Amino acid sequence: MIDRQLLEKAAAAIAGSKELALACHVGPDGDALGSMVGFGIAARNAGKGVVAGFGSPFAVPGTLSFIPDDLLVDPDSFPEAPETMVVFDAGSPDRLAELGSSAGDSGTLVVIDHHVTNEGFGDIGLVDPEAAATGVIVAELLDVLGWPITTDIATCLLTALVTDTGRFQYANTNPAALELAARLVGAGARPDLISQKVYEEAPFGYLKVAGAALSRAELDLAARMVSTIITEQDLDEAGVGWGDIDNLINTLRLAEEADVAVLAKVHADGQVRLSVRSRGDTDVGALAAALGGGGHRLAAGVTFDGPPEKAIDEVRARLEEYR
Ligand code: AMP
Ligand code: MN
Ligand code: MN
Repeated sequence: MIDRQLLEKAAAAIAGSKELALACHVGPDGDALGSMVGFGIAARNAGKGVVAGFGSPFAVPGTLSFIPDDLLVDPDSFPEAPETMVVFDAGSPDRLAELGSSAGDSGTLVVIDHHVTNEGFGDIGLVDPEAAATGVIVAELLDVLGWPITTDIATCLLTALVTDTGRFQYANTNPAALELAARLVGAGARPDLISQKVYEEAPFGYLKVAGAALSRAELDLAARMVSTIITEQDLDEAGVGWGDIDNLINTLRLAEEADVAVLAKVHADGQVRLSVRSRGDTDVGALAAALGGGGHRLAAGVTFDGPPEKAIDEVRARLEEYR
């Protein structure tokens, strides 16, 4: 739980502002997008002027196409110096990419996040590493604001919970997460439809991309690490986007010989984004933070310039230190 006084301070800043600019981390997942849009709908219902966005590439993942998009504006249209800005699911300003400058130039910056690696940026930080998802903290804030959770808001927040807990299977699945889920389903959110969209369907090209990436996977028995590389060219050939392959890491990490799974995603601009997961023996959040990234103990990410093999080796070299 976030301290009540802190919630009230954030609520006062938000309630006192006519216009709100909302942002979440680049390459948004269900928690980032669901938390931001769920909060945005509640704010609009309360009569606020609301825009919401995230940095380039500005594309909503196909798995999240059911999240309402009418509040979203592209990075070029995002306010440069908003009166009040609220940031969701980002542990540092660089996770906002080009929207980081709007955060820096905002009048009041509220940060809602649950990453252990959160740097403590912003004027008011609602940061709770015990929260299973940023969406949990959003629900706490909505209650203090007295803004009701309608069915569409409940759908957004349940998506946040479902995705960040891996359908209530990861170690972060706690009573607060399950109690909020019960409340959101009571408010009309449909767990069956969310699971269907997020986990049970993908464009056919995804099968081709997954097949290629998995057939190239390497197992380092000594390091207890499984890794593979996927390039934007692989995706282009199969006609799928980065937002379509968020579940690929979950197949890679099935290798029981490995504690750590690393998926290196090579973007067209040369940036390599690593998704890193641990079965339990390695603090990959701390490891990623040491390399300039961040995340949680068992799920983290880090971005590199340069060859993907070298990026994977940077992780390999530090595994012992974080076990
Ligand atoms: P992903 O592998 O993209 O699903 O990310 C796993 C977790 O690590 C999420 O909580 C992300 O917010 C976080 N994360 C991913 N990439 C980065 C990065 N470059 N810097 C900091 N945190 C990251
Ligand atoms: Mn996230
Ligand atoms: Mn999250």
